[in-house]
Amino acid sequence: MFSEKLMTIATEAEKELKPIFEELERISFENTKRVLEYFKEHRVSDSMFGGTTGYGYDDQGRETLDKIYADVFGAESAFVRHTIANGTSALTIGLFGLLRPGDVMLSVTNRPYDTLCEVIGIDGANGDGSLADFGVEYDQVDFNGDKIDFEGIENKLKQHGDRVKVVFIQRSKGYLNRPTLTIDQIGEICDFVHARSKAWVVVDNCYGEFCEDREPCHVGADMIIGSLIKNPGGGIAQSGGYIAGKARAVELASYRLTSAGTGTEVGATLGQNRDMFKGFFLAPHIVMQAKKTAHFAAYVFEKLGFDVYPKYDEMRSDIIQTVKFGYADGLIKFCQGIQSASAVDSYVTPMPWAMPGYKDEVIMAAGTFTQGSSIELSADGPVRPPYTAFFQGSLTYESGKIAILTAAEKLLEDKNA
Ligand SMILES: *Cc1c(COP(=O)(O)O)cnc(C)c1O
Repeated sequence: MFSEKLMTIATEAEKELKPIFEELERISFENTKRVLEYFKEHRVSDSMFGGTTGYGYDDQGRETLDKIYADVFGAESAFVRHTIANGTSALTIGLFGLLRPGDVMLSVTNRPYDTLCEVIGIDGANGDGSLADFGVEYDQVDFNGDKIDFEGIENKLKQHGDRVKVVFIQRSKGYLNRPTLTIDQIGEICDFVHARSKAWVVVDNCYGEFCEDREPCHVGADMIIGSLIKNPGGGIAQSGGYIAGKARAVELASYRLTSAGTGTEVGATLGQNRDMFKGFFLAPHIVMQAKKTAHFAAYVFEKLGFDVYPKYDEMRSDIIQTVKFGYADGLIKFCQGIQSASAVDSYVTPMPWAMPGYKDEVIMAAGTFTQGSSIELSADGPVRPPYTAFFQGSLTYESGKIAILTAAEKLLEDKNA
């Protein structure tokens, strides 16, 4: 099925990656141990999976899963809901929960994720109900090369004083050219900010969960936010998001989730509990599968002469891997290769298209069981120089490996043709 050249690289890769895979297995073991410990402590039982309707009062499953998320993530409190549409929606709930007119939101990791810019109103009040429309100001500190600009943060905290209510950190590089933050680095920022300000430190934790053996709240973050069709849903949860953190911060967010006064007391689970429990139980293992796939891909594509980031032997705090192809057809063939090796929609050939909100055409591969799920193997990239593919996920290392080899073979065939 694959050429000899490729199989030789694959064999070398797995030999070379052995110590890294062992470290990933250690992380998965530690995280699984923590998850299991709290499943036991909170006496998870079959009776919690049934689900409620209507107001959803006294939904034992919902209340228990909230507690488990809080404990596993080192937080005082948390809520997890299948009704949260996506990561952006969870972030919106968190930010609107904490910020009031006249407050300042200070991002200290460059510009936030694309979809958040409209929520914040980064380019000014947009009339759509952005934070800017409600008189919340936004300011930003950029990276200093690869480093957090602590002097810049200090200056902005001085400039805005007590008006800074949220200091915002995006853990993952997302689709920007910047480093992903480690838990240690997030802890350093939390300490630095807490020593100088009363602001809540809020972390966009998307793509980061279970990549290390601790989470941002273990090192001082006041609120973390993420999506269930990424890491913590374990590829099982069918939709949703979560918020965890300090009790008061989570309470304030819960009043935006439902309404002031009601908070987390309501919310029918409609039979989604089982998948959310099961997904969280599997998540540490699934994240390991995705990370093994990313390390493997980095090795293979580097050997084939492409620029990859991170390198195969670099430890990661998120699941995103990039490969720079340098030519449009490389990126396109790569995405088509990934799609053709997917379990779902393998017969579909993705093509570049003009996606709303993007200047350049984008190509996407996503043969996923759950629409848009990026803990499942998915790849995309804007069709413009330097033609970089961003890819992430894989429910199993084996299927991820097959997809990477399929994509690599497609590129090789092309080069030889
Ligand atoms: C995925 C992601 C989000 C939210 O995206 P949705 O598509 O709304 O789930 C936000 N921030 C980062 C860093 C992400 O990776």
